[in-house]
Amino acid sequence: MAEIEKPTIVIVGCGIAGISAASKLCKAGFQDVRILEATSRSGGRIKTEKLGNYITEIGATFIHGPCKENPVFCLSRDYGLLDREALTRRNQAMDIGESPPWVTNWFSSSGQKLNAKQMDSALDMFDKIVDDTEQFKNQRETPWASVGDFVRSKVKEQATKKWKGKDESTRKLLLCAISSMMKFECCSSAVHSMDELDLAAYCMYKDLKGLDCTFPNGYEGLIKNMMSELPSDLVTYNKPVHCIHWNSSESQASTVTVECEDGERIPADHVIATVPLGYLKRHCSTLFSPSLPANKLQSIQNLGFGTCNKIYVEFESPWWDADCDVIYLVWKDEEDFTDKVSDISKNWIRKMSAFTVLKPSESHSHVLCGWIAGHESEYMETLPEQEVKRAITELVRTFTGNSTIALKRILRSQWFNDPWTCGSYCHPTIGCSAKDLRNMMEPLPKKGSESQPLQVLFAGEATHPCYYSSVHGAVLSGWREADRLISNYPSINAPQD
Ligand SMILES: Cc1cc2nc3c(=O)[nH]c(=O)nc-3n(C[C@H](O)[C@H](O)[C@H](O)COP(=O)(O)OP(=O)(O)OC[C@H]3O[C@@H](n4cnc5c(N)ncnc54)[C@H](O)[C@@H]3O)c2cc1C
Repeated sequence: MAEIEKPTIVIVGCGIAGISAASKLCKAGFQDVRILEATSRSGGRIKTEKLGNYITEIGATFIHGPCKENPVFCLSRDYGLLDREALTRRNQAMDIGESPPWVTNWFSSSGQKLNAKQMDSALDMFDKIVDDTEQFKNQRETPWASVGDFVRSKVKEQATKKWKGKDESTRKLLLCAISSMMKFECCSSAVHSMDELDLAAYCMYKDLKGLDCTFPNGYEGLIKNMMSELPSDLVTYNKPVHCIHWNSSESQASTVTVECEDGERIPADHVIATVPLGYLKRHCSTLFSPSLPANKLQSIQNLGFGTCNKIYVEFESPWWDADCDVIYLVWKDEEDFTDKVSDISKNWIRKMSAFTVLKPSESHSHVLCGWIAGHESEYMETLPEQEVKRAITELVRTFTGNSTIALKRILRSQWFNDPWTCGSYCHPTIGCSAKDLRNMMEPLPKKGSESQPLQVLFAGEATHPCYYSSVHGAVLSGWREADRLISNYPSINAPQD
């Protein structure tokens, strides 16, 4: 590719993928780099807020797999953002797969606290079955239609053997607990139902070693530190991009024109688009002119992008054990391994089958985080806060059998109705494959050459082949696209780290 002396690079979106790309380009000596961000803030799906004295994460909570292969872990460690426990070698070496060593509390819909040891046997079985999906990696055909199908079939098989000696009511309860776990599992993939997950493609996600850790002072600390290393005028906020005109002859000097919603047209040599897949699904027909190639459009459609929301709930006083990490709610009429509800407007709250406990200090926490995925979660977003509060109060009173439990306040995420995200993160729906993620990261035009320089590049979590849906996937995708450009400019030679 013919080298432009001082290329103009426009990055669309100031989430962690856009920030990572900008950071690498600036460090490499590129001087004309800017980010256009639709909202008034940086961080995108990394967003920390406070509920009373508690730090809450509206978006990402965990560093998944905090080990030295994880760039988010390394950056956060180097910025001094993690606590001592997360930095221990033992923590980084833990290979926990799908089963974090959580202390559980269990409650049933008849208002009883259940025997955790007994109920944990259902959890162990469930986690092992989910881990077993690994055997289908790279298989073209699988004997089951979906992850949901596989899980149901294996639970039926194993429950018959393992729970044979148990009395009828315990056996029933354990089967109902599987439904609770399936609903909670929908949150991991931000999917409406596990029936929508492709069994072979599900294993494209690669787990990293290390016990998931959090940021004692909030995930946004990472964004603040990364932003502090960039020129202060690099980002233009409240600047939504309407259309990326590529392959155009509009400007003699540059090949791409970025048209903003306020009408401004910004010429660029290269554009890195980091908008979420949810946004692309809704707007790809207008965001690019000419339209994207057919294979990319197909992959945007093939990959799933669903909703997972959190509802933080502060209670007057805790009703769970002091050492508890996660609370499961078991509906006693859900023996049929169901992970979606009928009549969403009436029953949406049933989808929220688990709370995690916020543990900010040594004292007994008063705050829980309720997890809810799928269409029920999207419906919840439309309700007034008072109604959500009422529904959670009723839920907790039903499951504890204590009609005096009172909520102080709630704070919830509403990612589906966020116009710049349109959901939470991507997942492999039925029929999608590694090829779709490869198509997502393919730049335009397909191969940069003398006559056809790279014009539009794509980064963001939904463009990473094995760490999609995660913060580290987003970081690596931003670095990848920065490197793609850097390798085209050997004369911009500043030392890189
Ligand atoms: C509820 C929830 C929980 C999560 N939990 C975890 C977790 O525990 N661990 C983990 O690793 N990951 C988690 N994730 C996923 C993680 O947050 C994302 O993968 C990551 O932050 C995505 O970064 P990104 O830069 O690709 O996208 P974003 O952060 O979405 O950045 C894209 C940016 O583009 C902007 N934009 C959109 N359209 C336009 C436009 N037209 N013009 C200009 N700007 C535009 C947006 O405003 C946004 O700022 C979670 C996400 C959610 C929603």
